[in-house]
Amino acid sequence: MTSLASEMFCRVDRVCRHLPVALNTFLVFSITGEVSYLVLVEAPLEADLKKTQWSAWWKLVHLLAQYFMLGNICWNALLFLRTSPSIKGVFLGGEGVGQGWRYCYSCETHTPPRCSHCYDCKVCVLRRDHHCVFFGQCVGFRNYRYFLSCLLFMWSGLLYATLMNAEVFIVILKEGVTVHSVLLLLIPWIMLVSGQVSARAFAFAFIADTCVVGFLLVSAFFFFHLFLLFRGQTTREWYSSRRPYNLGLQGNLRCTLGHRWYLSWLCPLIPSPLPGDGINFKVTGSLEPTQ
Ligand SMILES: [Zn+2]
Ligand SMILES: [Zn+2]
Repeated sequence: MTSLASEMFCRVDRVCRHLPVALNTFLVFSITGEVSYLVLVEAPLEADLKKTQWSAWWKLVHLLAQYFMLGNICWNALLFLRTSPSIKGVFLGGEGVGQGWRYCYSCETHTPPRCSHCYDCKVCVLRRDHHCVFFGQCVGFRNYRYFLSCLLFMWSGLLYATLMNAEVFIVILKEGVTVHSVLLLLIPWIMLVSGQVSARAFAFAFIADTCVVGFLLVSAFFFFHLFLLFRGQTTREWYSSRRPYNLGLQGNLRCTLGHRWYLSWLCPLIPSPLPGDGINFKVTGSLEPTQ
């Protein structure tokens, strides 16, 4: 009975771990599908709002931009998930510990500076930033590039989708700010279940809402990580007010995005080897908290 319960718990745990990735994938593809539909079928939604019909070329430019962003989001997400940032399989240099090294009792090994144990991944992670609940994996030395690029294209994609969906808001609110239109935008699910709106109106309102909320959320994450990138800090170092590994703007960009930092964000397939090994870091400031 106990083993059955533990097996059930393991299965539920596994499903819960994959749920955010599945939900995000569903949302990303739904939003892309909706904006493609807006470009191909509904653009312009109201002929009198836009003076001219969109030409085939202009629609093609929009579609190419959308699928470029979608491709980058998916590819970076895939590479992020497939690139383990942990110490597994990494030669840490024997027992020759130096300044900043610690002993991890869970992994039973000495670990280098900036490395810390993740209790979700159950392993120590090199240059650990944080455990990303949306991907169910840690962000560390080897996969930070893919995490940042994915955030960049999610941010630009959601900005684009929000602007495209502005017309949906205009159409919904065109007849005036009524209780019906406000409720459709605020609680589309309840309006659908109670039979107040059609499935089509619900789908547009739901996706438009998701774009706005997603854009605000991703903006906060994206600009926070840009701020950390420019300062050469990890989220953990920012929490503890330490900034000992700052190499200047260009040095920090190179350490995170690799030698081809000026190109690597454009496509995850552009080779951009990271300087260093994730074990040894040049110390340029005090290892003690600055406050
Ligand atoms: Zn550990
Ligand atoms: Zn983790």
